Amino acid sequence: MAPSHVLRCCQRVLAWIPVAFITMVVCWSYYAYVVELCVFIYLTVFHFSFFMFVWSYWKTIFTRPSSPTKEFSLSKVDKEQYERAERPETQQEILKRAARELPIYTRTGSGGIRYCDRCQVIKPDRCHHCSACDMCVLKMDHHCPWVNNCVGFSNYKFFILFLAYALVYCLFIATTVLQYFIKFWTVSLPDTHAKFHVLFLFFVAAMFFISILSLFSYHLWLVGKNRSTIEAFRAPVFSNGPDKNGFSLGFRKNVTQVFGDQGRLWLLPFFTRCDDVIHTFSESQNQLLNNHSNENHLEPNGVKTGMSLADYSRV
Ligand SMILES: [Zn+2]
Ligand SMILES: [Zn+2]
Repeated sequence: MAPSHVLRCCQRVLAWIPVAFITMVVCWSYYAYVVELCVFIYLTVFHFSFFMFVWSYWKTIFTRPSSPTKEFSLSKVDKEQYERAERPETQQEILKRAARELPIYTRTGSGGIRYCDRCQVIKPDRCHHCSACDMCVLKMDHHCPWVNNCVGFSNYKFFILFLAYALVYCLFIATTVLQYFIKFWTVSLPDTHAKFHVLFLFFVAAMFFISILSLFSYHLWLVGKNRSTIEAFRAPVFSNGPDKNGFSLGFRKNVTQVFGDQGRLWLLPFFTRCDDVIHTFSESQNQLLNNHSNENHLEPNGVKTGMSLADYSRV
């Protein structure tokens, strides 16, 4: 077995350590709350929040990231020409020709077509290559070590729900354990090993609640702005330059683009998207860009000129 292959296998195994850590903490918290503390009247709500938290965590971990469809791969002829071309300008000409029919509106910092040499695909808008997953991921937000998966187009809703239910779980534990925690300090609790669990339940729940709250608030803000974490740090570049609000369609549409347009499914970790948004090719191919009346605004190569996606919403 090649050393690089062994190293890769080791990296894959080690990448599960944060997930194993979270799983152990959650299992311990379940044991401490249900077995050691065991306050019957709290158990229904506890189990509900526990189930929703575990469900959304599971879906975030095991939902495979979406990669670009085959339409974004170069044809055999183009690929050979691209590999033979020595000058970057020639390579860009090949990419521009291949991207003519594709719904691509973002560019590299220097105005070129975004291309992944590793996956050999033209990158759709909002798509980035993840070195940890070794693949191009649609609407990549970030690679999260706590779920050992890329957070992106296919699981962003699950990730938000995972944070939300983690908050509910921690908050419920912290508030219901507080009275026993106080009794611990006032020494009125029977001196059993349950004391130890009660003490740590409160500390761990409060600590996780505080740290998750800031992350959750930040992602809610990103959802409202229709930005990924990557785009928040580096504005996407369109043909008319960088535009950090380039994908924003207004608050309501931004929210439905992640959670879907059926409110009753918002809180469930099912994949739901806005019905009137078609995602055949890329994240940016939304209803506004599919409107054929807008075709006049596109250059022959399919690149819109001087307008951001937000501008389309005002057309
Ligand atoms: Zn790639
Ligand atoms: Zn990744």
